[in-house]
This record gives sequence, structure tokens and C-alpha cells, in this order.
Amino acid sequence: IINKKQKLYEIHLDSARYFFNALFQNKNKGYEYFKRRGLNDKTIKYFGLGYAYDNWDNLTKYLLSKGYKESELMESGLILEKKNKNGYIDRFRDRIIFPIFDVRGKVIGFGGRVLGDLIPKYLNSPETLIFNKRYNLYGLNFAKKYIQDETLIIVEGYMDVISLFQFGIKNVVASLGTALTKEQGKLIKRYANKVIMAYDSDEAGTKATLKGMNILKEVGLDVKILKFDEAKDPDEYIRKKGVNLFKKYLNQSVSLVQFKIDILKKDYNLDNAQEKVDFTKKVSKILKEIKSPIELEHYIKKISKETGISVNAIGSEVYGKYYNPRQFNQNETR
Ligand code: ATP
Ligand code: MN
Ligand code: MN
Ligand code: MN
Repeated sequence: IINKKQKLYEIHLDSARYFFNALFQNKNKGYEYFKRRGLNDKTIKYFGLGYAYDNWDNLTKYLLSKGYKESELMESGLILEKKNKNGYIDRFRDRIIFPIFDVRGKVIGFGGRVLGDLIPKYLNSPETLIFNKRYNLYGLNFAKKYIQDETLIIVEGYMDVISLFQFGIKNVVASLGTALTKEQGKLIKRYANKVIMAYDSDEAGTKATLKGMNILKEVGLDVKILKFDEAKDPDEYIRKKGVNLFKKYLNQSVSLVQFKIDILKKDYNLDNAQEKVDFTKKVSKILKEIKSPIELEHYIKKISKETGISVNAIGSEVYGKYYNPRQFNQNETR
């Protein structure tokens, strides 16, 4: 099995070189595509970006010519058997290619994106002996050297990682499209203590954030959330607004509780008395999760200011009984 894995690593490295040369030597439409998206040559090289030809079996033929067996190539997930069982074709065709590295920097799979708006936009390598999506994070091999003050930024996509990197923000990884897993959380914990989740601003991104942040919290990470209102994802944001504004935004990332409150607030008109009451009741449920009395007081005061409902009333709602701050403090110390 070690030999099998070794073979798969070799196939992936050869393929990565092939895709890269296809892009970089020919400066074809794959290269043009990355240029249009603002990437420079240095970035393209650093991430080993490539192009899979618009052809049925270019890579298959190349790899066979290098002496790999069909069975080995099938196990790599890079080739597919034809429907009529009469030969093989490439999995990735006419797509730009992102090699996916493990944390040591070995190529273990690929992501391929169409150059236009076709669906599905992305196609990834299947799970193989060397590629387990739930155990890997895109970009960690690069980011691990740049986790300053122990913070790691987690984004959704390849382009988010690469774009931020080119702008000098290098402590970034992507979750490989899948929902964040516990295994990925544990992997992060080996390199960082604090994370900032910066997922897409659409509904899918918000949902993935809510799920992911609980997993990250469970493995003991300090989690903050960054939400973009003026762009759909970090790549678009940094391109539109620039790196300085992005950094300023990073510093304004919010706690999990604040993130939940902000989502809730969108559904209520606080100028309407009934909606204000309903909102405050719902917020109280979120506040029940807070364990620290200091943190709790902070949020209760904030909500009180926003709604005009008294601190005592909100506190009572949270505790489910009449709330008297002084009495509460005495109970806590007893
Ligand atoms: P782009 O900026 O190129 O349009 P994106 O990264 O913003 O791409 P999203 O749709 O936000 O694209 O997807 C985020 C990430 O999720 C992708 O980078 C990819 O890793 C993964 N992904 C998206 N769609 C798929 C898919 N159909 N199959 C597998 N993975 C996917
Ligand atoms: Mn998305
Ligand atoms: Mn994007
Ligand atoms: Mn996106």
C-alpha cells in the first residue's frame, strides 16, 4: 500500500507539471483567464496553477507514455473509463487547474474550474488513497509559515486563498468546498489558536459559517467571523476595495454571538413595537448560550441600547426569572 501511495504521488506530481506547462508555456486561454482575474506570473507559479486541454485524452496519453499502468491511473482518479469500455479519457478537460497540496506540500488532488459560466463550475478529484477531503485544507502548506499571532483565516474557495495571498495576506486556507469537518478543525488547531471565518456572503456561505464555527469552537479554537456586505467573497472584496480596507475589516470581525444576532436582526423592523419585542425575545435565546457574565452583560447592554428595552427586562428574559444585577452577582460569588 505504501508503494501504491508512492505511485499516486508521482502521478499527481507529473500531472501537475503537465497542467502547469500547458498553461505557462503556451500562454493559452487558461493563462488569459487567470490574467483576467488579476493573477500575476509569480502567483501562478507559486500555486502551480494549470490548464487541462480541450481534448479527450491528452493527459491520459502523456501519463501512459511515461510508463504508468492504466490501473494506476484509474486509482488516481485522473482518468475515466469510456462508457463503451473501449479506452480511457481525462477527467479534467478544458478547465483551469488548481493543484491541491497536503500539509507537507505534496500534490494529492486537483480542482478544475470551467473558464466560463458552465455548470458545474468546479470539478474536484475524487477521494483516493492519497486524497481525503475531510482531512485536508487548501493552502495550509503555504499558510502554516505565515500564521502570525496564531490567527488563521478560513475562506471557501481556491481563488479567495490565492487572491488574498497575492495581496500579501498569507495566513489563509480554504475548506475545499465541503462543509468544514471536525478533522479539518483538529488539523487547524495544530497550527493556530485563533481563526477568522470569511465565507461568502450568500445564503450558502452563511449556513456553512454557522455550522463550521461550532465545529471550530468544539476543537478549542477562538473563532471570529467576517461578513462581507459589499462583495460576494473575499476575492471580490479585496479586488474592489483594496488590501487596506480588507485588513481594517479583518480587525472588525465579530464574535459568534454577534454574528447570530446580526443575522437575526435582518428579519425584524426595530421601529415596529411588536417586531422589536419579538426580536428581543429571540436574541435572549441566543444570549443564553453565553457562559461569561462579563460577556453577557456586554451584550445585554448593547441590545438594551438598540431596542430601548431595559437591561433588567432583557436579563430576566435570559435567566427566565426576575433579573436583579446585584442579586445575580451575589449568587455568582456564593
Ligand atoms: P470563482 O470565484 O472562481 O467563481 P468561488 O471560489 O468563488 O469561484 P464558489 O462557488 O464560492 O466559487 O465555491 C467555493 C469553493 O467551493 C470553490 O473554490 C470550490 O473549492 C468549491 N466548489 C464549488 N462548487 C463546487 C462543485 N460543484 N464541486 C466541488 N467543489 C465545489
Ligand atoms: Mn460560495
Ligand atoms: Mn469567487
Ligand atoms: Mn465564492
